[in-house]
Amino acid sequence: MDEIYLNGDFISKSEAQISIMDRGFLFGDGVYELIPVYNKKPFLLDKHLKRLKDSLTLIGMDEIKEIDKSIKTLINKCSHSNFFIYLHITRGSQAQRNHIYPSNITPTVLIMCEDYPCFSEEKIKQGFTASLQDDFRWMKSNIKSISLLGNVLLKNYASQNGFYETLLIRNNKLTEGSASNVFMVKDGKVYTPKLGSELLPGVTRDLLIMLMKENNLDIIESDISQTNLVESDEIWCSSSTNAVVPIIKVDDKLINEGVVGKISMDVFNLATKFIDNF
Ligand code: PLP
Repeated sequence: MDEIYLNGDFISKSEAQISIMDRGFLFGDGVYELIPVYNKKPFLLDKHLKRLKDSLTLIGMDEIKEIDKSIKTLINKCSHSNFFIYLHITRGSQAQRNHIYPSNITPTVLIMCEDYPCFSEEKIKQGFTASLQDDFRWMKSNIKSISLLGNVLLKNYASQNGFYETLLIRNNKLTEGSASNVFMVKDGKVYTPKLGSELLPGVTRDLLIMLMKENNLDIIESDISQTNLVESDEIWCSSSTNAVVPIIKVDDKLINEGVVGKISMDVFNLATKFIDNF
């Protein structure tokens, strides 16, 4: 069985123990990252570690020293070549449950090798469905917080109602998906919500924007209204597990007559090529 990393030790999952007084358990007080590994190489590691540092700073925690070394050691210990690194950092545990954290608390650091479903090209070409819901999550969605109850409820709403993803609307503006960033195409131009506290700065979002710019596709970061979204020509979701997931139906409304659009497939192919050459 593959080992995990917990607070400096490489041990089996079954041996791993965390205190019930851990603030991650009691308060959801912590942050996380999910990093793809291709052929034993962590994908865009610097970008993931930069976002981790930003998330830690935003919750008043210090950087975790030498975390890159621990990640690489764990990758080498893992029996697979392609998987995901799940990194989970909580503020640590304290003797008594208290909203107020002490200044000298030691963080809990967990790193695991995980498998997540990556869709085949065939499945991508068929397209996926999504539903619109009110974005009722908190106003600091730019932090990759382990407090994911809002996202969990919204993703389960999708899965229980036969959709792939829930697309979130706040004040008539698209923010993101419950576990993804969102892009749309109108009249040959690509749009995605601009960054701010209402959405996660996705590493894949960043990669796709870079690839589109390099390939002379018009990409605009701007507000997207609910009407703009449902009347768009193409929509896709992006995340580290699946870089481009085309959406061909939003609730009852077909997008591009229910067929995956050309730009979605072009961007999917650009991302696939980039990953293959990584
Ligand atoms: N937005 C949310 C809410 C997410 O949970 C995720 C990924 O888990 C993303 C966006 C995409 O981020 P990334 O491309 O860094 O995986």
